[in-house]
Formats: sequence, structure tokens, C-alpha cells
Amino acid sequence: MPEPKLGKSKDKRDMHYSIGALIKKDSTYLLIDRAYPPYGFAGIADHIDEGENKFKALIREVKEESNLTVKDYKLLFEEELNWNFCSKGIRVHHWYLFECEISGIPKRNERETKSMNWYTKEQIKKLKIEPVWGYWFKKLKLI
Ligand SMILES: [Zn+2]
Repeated sequence: MPEPKLGKSKDKRDMHYSIGALIKKDSTYLLIDRAYPPYGFAGIADHIDEGENKFKALIREVKEESNLTVKDYKLLFEEELNWNFCSKGIRVHHWYLFECEISGIPKRNERETKSMNWYTKEQIKKLKIEPVWGYWFKKLKLI
């Protein structure tokens, strides 16, 4: 398994880099129910691995987690979040959130997800959203 790319945060702590994929179809969004901490409903996301760039990580992870192909993408936000932890014990993540155009039929990764479905804004408001995705959705004024 490749290791996540490691860096230093503004306050000099160990930091990982992450990509997130906002995938929209009509007026619904593709969310997974995460099988690993942090738990909750989330968009597709992962670490950027050592030796990998953010675009490769985005395309790889969307494929791995949903079987979808990224056809185009647009960077929505780039931000260092000093409250966002991961199961590897790192407590700061430098995020790149992309909006993606995709092709293919979603098929969930059974190891990493408990479910995967399309949700409207109204449905998203009622879900238990993983904190970092709650942060993005608020920023995007979806919830
Ligand atoms: Zn991490």
C-alpha cells in the first residue's frame, strides 16, 4: 500500500493531503456512508499518496470507490483544515475539493462504504454528515 504524502501544516504539525469529489447529477449528489472513521455520509475522498499529484489521486479514488470515470473537474476549494483527523493519527489535512463530471454507472466499493446513493439537498439535510463534508456543504450553501 502506498503511504499518504506527508507535509507540515502552517503550525508545524504533520499533515496529509486529501482530495474530495463533489459529484452531481441533475439536482442530486453522490454520497457514500463511510465504513471507516470518521464515520458519516460523505462525498468520495481520499489521501493523495506519496509521489502522486492531486489530479491523479482524484481520478484514481473516484474509480476505486464508485467505478465512475472522471471526465472533467474544477477546483472549488483548497484549504488546510487543522481539525480534520484520519485513522492514521494525523490531525491536519490540506484539502482540494473538486467538482467532477463523470461517466459510467456507480458501483460502490464494498470494503470502504456501507452504501452509496444519490441524495437531494433536502435529504442531505437529514443525514448524519461526516464533519469535513458538512463543512464543504455549508460552504457551498447546500445545507
Ligand atoms: Zn490522513
